[in-house]
Amino acid sequence: MSQKKKPQLFHIGFFYKLPNPNSNSTKYIWRCRLNNCKATGYTFTDKIGETDVKFYITNEIHIETPDNTRFEKLEHRLFLKERAANSDDKPRKIINLAERPYEDNVLAQLPSNSADRQAIVREQKRNKPQYPKQPEILSEIEVPDWLKMSLKNEDFLFYDSGPSDMDRFLIFGTRQNLKLVEYANIFCDGTFSVAPKLFKYILFMLCLKMKLSQ
Ligand SMILES: [Zn+2]
Repeated sequence: MSQKKKPQLFHIGFFYKLPNPNSNSTKYIWRCRLNNCKATGYTFTDKIGETDVKFYITNEIHIETPDNTRFEKLEHRLFLKERAANSDDKPRKIINLAERPYEDNVLAQLPSNSADRQAIVREQKRNKPQYPKQPEILSEIEVPDWLKMSLKNEDFLFYDSGPSDMDRFLIFGTRQNLKLVEYANIFCDGTFSVAPKLFKYILFMLCLKMKLSQ
């Protein structure tokens, strides 16, 4: 698949595109990605990459020379971008994870480590949430809406004693989790070490959830 989500097929050094992706026919006609190249072939599915696909060449005369490294380069870049967007991994780790037993000619064509590093940092910056600036006094605290929700989109900021409270405190939790308190053993624990500036400590309430044996 190409990055623009348009199906693209790679076959022995050449890329093909699907000019009519939604045709009703069961035969999918692919043309060389280069506009004035007349090479064509067909498949019986457009689900490229999901299954083994047989590609039947109808015209194998290309005007361009094959590029056997382009596919690996694309895959490499996609992997870096996806990992950078979806993890907090350091660039070094992502670069290590992207390593494959490439052939020498592919290795020579891949971006340098520092180019990869830059691409990763750029992607991570782009995906970084916009946190409000560190408040100086308790009354300045304003929790942005997106931090009031859990990752599952449930209400997460349960209670806020308000900006006029000299001893301001906030309670975070979900309604679903609060239900557990009803029947469970509750353990409380506090920690000073990870409390944010302006706060003395964070108090946790943990519930022991037990499955009844049958
Ligand atoms: Zn071609």
